[in-house]
Parts: sequence; structure tokens; C-alpha cells
Amino acid sequence: MAYAQAKQTAIAAVTQAAQLCEAVRQGLVPAAIEKNDKSPVTIADYGAQALICKALAEAFPGDPVVGEEDTTDLRQPAAAPVLAAVTAQVQQLIPNATDSDVLSYIDHGNGDVAPRYWTLDPIDGTKGFLRGDQYAIALALIEDGEIKLGVLGCPYLSFGDQFGDQTGLLLVAVRGEGTTIMPLAGGNPQQLTVAKTGDSDRCRLVESMESGHGDHGQQHAIARAVGITAPSLQMDSQAKYAAVAAGQAVLYLRLPSPKTPDYREKIWDHAAGVIVVEEAGGRVTDMHGQPLDFASAARFPHNQGVVASNGAIHDAVLAALRV
Ligand code: AMP
Ligand code: MG
Repeated sequence: MAYAQAKQTAIAAVTQAAQLCEAVRQGLVPAAIEKNDKSPVTIADYGAQALICKALAEAFPGDPVVGEEDTTDLRQPAAAPVLAAVTAQVQQLIPNATDSDVLSYIDHGNGDVAPRYWTLDPIDGTKGFLRGDQYAIALALIEDGEIKLGVLGCPYLSFGDQFGDQTGLLLVAVRGEGTTIMPLAGGNPQQLTVAKTGDSDRCRLVESMESGHGDHGQQHAIARAVGITAPSLQMDSQAKYAAVAAGQAVLYLRLPSPKTPDYREKIWDHAAGVIVVEEAGGRVTDMHGQPLDFASAARFPHNQGVVASNGAIHDAVLAALRV
């Protein structure tokens, strides 16, 4: 089995981070502080990055980690109560961690794209997290621009009776070895396969909850153009990729919002989800049919939009996008 140690390390780290996130979510009203881009950042966001970066630094000291968070705001004197709260959460899992340890773990996540690197979104879908809805802890390993391993922890995700009515799912994909799903609380992994296109109620589109993160009007028009008639599913975070991989939807569209036509997607918002869909038998490209570029920078320099599908409808979607 390829990447066995990386897989074990990533699963353990994401599972720990998910425990921290749920402890925060269930214990308090998450104290969000504003990042420069105004998206809410929580104690859980920092805590999850700290835990995962510590685990990666120990297991793979030479690997850079390109993570979403940095400590600029957390080091401000005014953020001292937030830092204390992050450290208290981290101490639930690493009892002797200090404030300064926590800051240096988080800073380990400020590496650059390299021939081999990890990318991490400690809480993807912060809006979903704060709303009490879907969010994901997303970690992937990239070598020479190819995603080799992806782990998606989705603490609030349930696919009804498809996976034993479990809430809280962990998806794991290894290049060439498929995608599995199991309860975050532990259990037997099951192999995942995308849905065939058909007239079932799962033959549907999945898209962001946020109208500012995509063009819902165009997304619905493209879905209709390829014969999708069921109402679309809306979810925060890379849980959308999990929905396609698990056959709960056949298409995830993320077309640039007219309000931000020049937005460039970030690698940590996609890497784990992309391999989870690909290894379940699906296909992922940008809206022009180009592969997403994980070899260059934290933001895709050339790709625009994202199309993730069950594979069967992919070319038809790209054709509809060209009209
Ligand atoms: P979602 O949960 O699918 O709405 O996606 C959440 C992610 O959207 C966040 O992690 C942000 O990085 C990203 N994001 C922020 N602004 C935009 C934008 N204008 N267009 C697309 N994605 C965005
Ligand atoms: Mg994100």
C-alpha cells in the first residue's frame, strides 16, 4: 500500500482536529475574530491547524505545509484571550502545549508549494461551522503537482441510511487505491463510488450555500442543460465533493460569482475534495476543462471555476459551459 504512513498520520491528525472542532462548537458560541478578508476565524480554526501541523511536523519534518491560517492576528496583544482559548482546546489533546508551542505549530502551516507538500484547510466552510451546518477539515498531500492522498473530515455530515445513519464522516482517498468512507468516531471503511446518471433523486447538482461564492443562476442553467431536473443540494465546504463521491449528487459546480469574476480559488479549498471524487470514479476540472494546477501557488494562477462530476456527464457539462 502506497502512502501508508502518510495516510495513517493524516487520518489520526484530522480525527483529532475534528474532535477539537466539535468540542468548541458544542461548548460555546464560537468566538470569531475578523481576518483581513472578513471571513470568520474561530478558536477551532486555529486549534485544528495547530494539531494537524504538529502531527505533520513530527512525522514528516521535511514536508512544507501550505495551510490557510497564520498567526498575524493571533499575536496581537488584543487577541491574547483568543490565544488562551486556542491553547486550552489544544491542551485537551496535547496536555503540556504552551501558547508559544501553539503559535509555532500554526506557523508550521505557512510553507510554500514545493515538489512535495501538504495543503490544509483546518476548517473549510467557517460560515457553515458558525451557522451550525456543514464544514470540513481538509488535508491533502501533493507530489509533483499530483494529489496523492486526501482526507476530508466532515463532523456534521450524514448521508442518511446510506452509511448507517452516522453523523460525522471521514473520507480518505489514495491515488490508485480508491476512496473510502467511515464514521469519524471509528468503524469499518467502505469503498465509495460515484452515482450513475439517471432519473433518481440523487441525480442532482450540489453547490455552495453562499451566493457570493458562485453563480447560482448559471449553475442551475448548466445543470438543466445536461438534463438534471431534481432540486439542487446546497452545502458549505468540501462536503460537496463528499456528496459527489458518495453518489448523493452527480455534479458540483462552482462558477465564478458575477460579483467576483476574477476570484482565484485556493488549493486547500479543493485538493482533498478533488482526489476524493476522482478516486470514487468521478472527474474534476476547471470550467474550461483544464486540470486544476496544484504545482504552482496557493491560488490557482490560471484555473477559473470548478466542475466536479460523476465523470459520465463531464464532457456534456463542459460543452454546455462553452455555449
Ligand atoms: P463554500 O463553503 O463552498 O461556500 O466555500 C468556502 C470557501 O469559499 C472559503 O474557504 C473561501 O476560501 C472561498 N471563497 C471566498 N470568497 C470566494 C469567492 N468570491 N468565490 C469563490 N469562493 C470564495
Ligand atoms: Mg476553505
